[in-house]
Amino acid sequence: MKDLIEKYRKSRNRLLLLDYDGTLVQFSSIPINALPSEELLDTLIRLENNRYTKVVIISGRSSDDMDKLFGKLSITLIAEHGAMIKSFNMWHSVVAESDVWKKSVIAVLEEMTRDCSGSYIENKRFSLNWDYRSSNPESGSLKSREIISKLEDGGLLQLHDLKIHIGSKNVEILPRGIGKGHTVLELISHNINDFIISIGDEATDEEMFEVLKDNPDAYTVKVGDGHTCAKYRLEEVTEVVSLLKNLSLCD
Ligand SMILES: [Mg+2]
Repeated sequence: MKDLIEKYRKSRNRLLLLDYDGTLVQFSSIPINALPSEELLDTLIRLENNRYTKVVIISGRSSDDMDKLFGKLSITLIAEHGAMIKSFNMWHSVVAESDVWKKSVIAVLEEMTRDCSGSYIENKRFSLNWDYRSSNPESGSLKSREIISKLEDGGLLQLHDLKIHIGSKNVEILPRGIGKGHTVLELISHNINDFIISIGDEATDEEMFEVLKDNPDAYTVKVGDGHTCAKYRLEEVTEVVSLLKNLSLCD
């Protein structure tokens, strides 16, 4: 931690790549309740006001959600796992939009939603997300496995070149060409950063850790347990916020 802060202090072109749910805030059974704390907002504002630091929040959430949470801040927002980026106050898509695959996948998800009370489908611009955090955990987890095997065995993934992200209480289906890894590669392609920190807690964040793993200026940090290719680990959200707070006190 000392080394990291020292390196941050000495660098002049810093990039902070931060996941949101499970990283900057705790999971909530109702996503709309997972709001950033005052402490977090103050910290992000202080970081962004530092002329050497660029703050990017890179999340799987929709652009509308991101605007509701952080629209008032001047930080860079990336939504839908990297498919959309907000710069100069305008959202634009990083990849071409295609809906042709959604109809057949929705049919599978709707069947599971009927059998699993509390679960719901979120139809985002670039992905379909089946969420069961408000359902009975056992039946939700069972149904999520059923979704995965139906999509795999039915050949829908191969046919439309899709991938599945398995979250802690959700299953998300999206085109293979979309991911935090692709978008982070694009962000760092000019190679101007002398300090990068990337923090996240889920499978989608592993793509970002993967593209940074050979970068000598990058610190990759996994939040919580589980397999990771990140170099460092923090146990919980409060530790992430306190690390960011420490960084925000540097010049
Ligand atoms: Mg997360």
